[in-house]
Amino acid sequence: METTKTFQELGVSEEVIRALTKQGVTAPTRVQEEAIPPLLAWKDVIAKAPTGTGKTFAFGIPMIEHVDPASDDLQALILAPTRELALQICDELNGLLAYYKDIRVTVVYGGTGMQAQIKALEKHPHIVVATPGRLMDHYNRKNLRLDKIKTVILDEADRMLDMGFFDDVTKILNKIKNRVNLGLFSATISQEVMTVSWMYQRDEVEITVAPTQESKPDIDQYSITVPKLEKEEAMLRILRSGAFERVIVFCNTKVMCQRLSDDLRRAGIQADCLHGDIKQATRERTMAAFRKGKLPVLIATDVASRGIDVDDVDGVINYDVPDENEYYIHRIGRTGRARKKGISFTLIGSFPEKAKLDEIAKFCEMTIHPMIFDEYGCLVPAPEEEKRTPPRKF
Ligand code: ADP
Ligand code: MG
Repeated sequence: METTKTFQELGVSEEVIRALTKQGVTAPTRVQEEAIPPLLAWKDVIAKAPTGTGKTFAFGIPMIEHVDPASDDLQALILAPTRELALQICDELNGLLAYYKDIRVTVVYGGTGMQAQIKALEKHPHIVVATPGRLMDHYNRKNLRLDKIKTVILDEADRMLDMGFFDDVTKILNKIKNRVNLGLFSATISQEVMTVSWMYQRDEVEITVAPTQESKPDIDQYSITVPKLEKEEAMLRILRSGAFERVIVFCNTKVMCQRLSDDLRRAGIQADCLHGDIKQATRERTMAAFRKGKLPVLIATDVASRGIDVDDVDGVINYDVPDENEYYIHRIGRTGRARKKGISFTLIGSFPEKAKLDEIAKFCEMTIHPMIFDEYGCLVPAPEEEKRTPPRKF
């Protein structure tokens, strides 16, 4: 039987425990239980845990406990891939600091003016939360010093390194000469994360938290078996059913993304795509249109989708069955957020695709309901499934 330790037993201070209690947080989650003690002991940590398992406190709490408020030095750094995430982390840290009023945290990110951030940095924060590009900007302009930083965390390390921040991140790490430890936190451990770990960590403590029932968003998952050459036809039917106002479609390759996007547009669907061969400026335009609700259908590869900062989509369609189990979780996790019910469709066009999806369902311990198009072109549960689950209407 697993027993959960208390925050006190993990070595967390009374001040932080009181701040946690104030937010209704009483017992640590798995990743917190496993990451807080080694981080408090200044060890390197590489932690893989699904979204929503409490990674922010897992690294935020030990970081706060390490800060010496009597000093004016910048002592700790958290790098995050997006402005939204950086702001969110900063908020969570401030929540933890309710009874440690003399610890200062500041956030810096791109896409906005430097001046307000320079002002904030002049107040000598102890902890900075930053996106990598903007942090480099501030460093190059000598708005902050990195030489007194002891602890560094890369949050959503997989996403950050995939988004083209690899060079910035390694440049930053190389400049932090007196670093004592480094924590890598991610939902998945990609090749780039492994590389950073290999380059910058020593005797790291590895933590893996498997997806649990509670961390799973509420998503109705369906698969649709169609003849291979009729996948586009199936897509059009789903998109035209009016079930979705905003949907992300995933393909496994850039070529497929582009082709599908072109074909859907020819068929009169407002669609656009994101993949590695598309220029940054165009990507940003596409993303902004999607975020504002002006573009209902966004088609993306797994890698490109990591830059999409929109989480509350009505649905996800997997045009291709993903190559990796983890990708499936990432993909469908784009919907069903914020306590809304999400929906996902995965198109199966071949036996290997069916076998792969069965494996994914087993690995993720999720039920994916098989559907088919009936003779009227309506989606109905596949015959063998009919008895077990009531069909959802479309
Ligand atoms: P992750 O980074 O793993 O996706 P977060 O750190 O953003 O997850 O935490 C998800 C939510 O869970 C947040 O709202 C956070 O306040 C809450 N949370 C974190 N730790 C606990 C805990 N020990 N008990 C209850 N809620 C928690
Ligand atoms: Mg997080």
